[in-house]
Amino acid sequence: MPKIPNSLPLDSRRCDPRLPEAALAFRRTHNPPLISLDRLRAINITAWLYRDTDGMEHIQVNPNTPIGQLREVPQRDDEPGVEIGIHSEGKAAEWFRVRPRLQVLAIFSERIPCPMMCAPLLRHYYPGVPWYYYYDRRSWQQGGRLLRTAAQVLQSAYGL
Ligand SMILES: [Zn+2]
Repeated sequence: MPKIPNSLPLDSRRCDPRLPEAALAFRRTHNPPLISLDRLRAINITAWLYRDTDGMEHIQVNPNTPIGQLREVPQRDDEPGVEIGIHSEGKAAEWFRVRPRLQVLAIFSERIPCPMMCAPLLRHYYPGVPWYYYYDRRSWQQGGRLLRTAAQVLQSAYGL
């Protein structure tokens, strides 16, 4: 059972547990599974709750495309792989852009949407839609040191 994600804004209703469950299920059922520390580091999963035109709720799951799949580059041990590929939230936003009749209700992303690209994109196109996340790098930085990596936090959040 995944832990309850953080909410933004803080006073949003609790995250629908189906969202982190869908992200974890994606990791477990992927071939190969994406549950090692290395895959937790390299891949960020986003899961968006939406309502279709019949009023039915569904979840759209998207992983990022890590830079290693775009071109062969060595990866360091923090999480640049996630930050410099094609971001999962951008892929999800594109999926919904071409399906404008679907109503986005909640956005879960394992890592908080990045401040440079995804956060402004989501605020612009999905105003008022709450965000849910497990990892915000800024919360784990102290005196220039990173206390816990995203992979460590996700491993704990998912009970892996
Ligand atoms: Zn991003």
